[in-house]
Amino acid sequence: MSAAMEILPQDRLFVLTGAGISAESGIPTFRGQDGLWEGHRIEDVATPRAFALDPQLVWRFYSMRRAHALKCKPNPAHVALAQLEEKLGERMLVCTQNVDSLHELAGSKCVIHMHGELFKSRCSNARCATKPFDDVKTYQNRSDIPACTRCGALIRPHICWFGEIPFRMDEILDHLQRCTVFLTVGTSGVVQPAASFVEVARQIGARTCYVGPENPANAGAFDEVVLGPAGERIPEMLRSLIKPA
Ligand code: NAD
Repeated sequence: MSAAMEILPQDRLFVLTGAGISAESGIPTFRGQDGLWEGHRIEDVATPRAFALDPQLVWRFYSMRRAHALKCKPNPAHVALAQLEEKLGERMLVCTQNVDSLHELAGSKCVIHMHGELFKSRCSNARCATKPFDDVKTYQNRSDIPACTRCGALIRPHICWFGEIPFRMDEILDHLQRCTVFLTVGTSGVVQPAASFVEVARQIGARTCYVGPENPANAGAFDEVVLGPAGERIPEMLRSLIKPA
């Protein structure tokens, strides 16, 4: 396997995943197909303004995604990363832009969902102290959407929408600034701030590698680009990743 992705006992691995790692599990990527949902641009149903204007439309979109994601299973890329974590322990973090739970279903424990979680909901009132809670329900009509038991505002998906700040950025930057190997899987390299993580990793001297079927927009920032589907390339890489101490 590549020099960039050899993992030595002193290494710390930061893995950034995007929609592409879940593609082989049957979850569509954002920019795949025509990027539309029932005639709406995805960007138009994934904003705070969209929720304020039409919460039913937004909940129907996320309800459809919940119902679909419930049927999807981790693929060999999720499983291989979980197996790698068993070997590396706290020296490895998976930071995912994905809102599905496939990393956890594969067995990964140290996962940060920077864009939120599909199977959580929270109060839409930013000043309300109610914490996000597990929620697999689907809401089709305005009258189905629950109100917060504390403040009465509508419950919304626990998702980082366009124009909102990703979750747990302090923890993410802390891990990023200590990594020695940076692996990105299946992301187009255009959504910020995730697309800039590779630059941070490079600045501190980490080896950087991208895996996916096509070059991402920021391909030039990686020491190495491994082309191919994650479900094939990641397990192949894992087989030769761990060197004897
Ligand atoms: P994107 O749709 O912009 O890009 C998907 C990338 O995956 C592309 O670069 C494509 O080449 C690659 N890809 C396609 N098939 C692949 C495969 N088999 N193996 C590896 N890579 C493959 O997605 P993005 O860059 O992650 O960013 C867009 C946003 O979409 C993120 O904010 C994310 O939250 C959201 N999103 C999440 C999910 C999910 O939770 N599964 C699904 C769709 C979108």
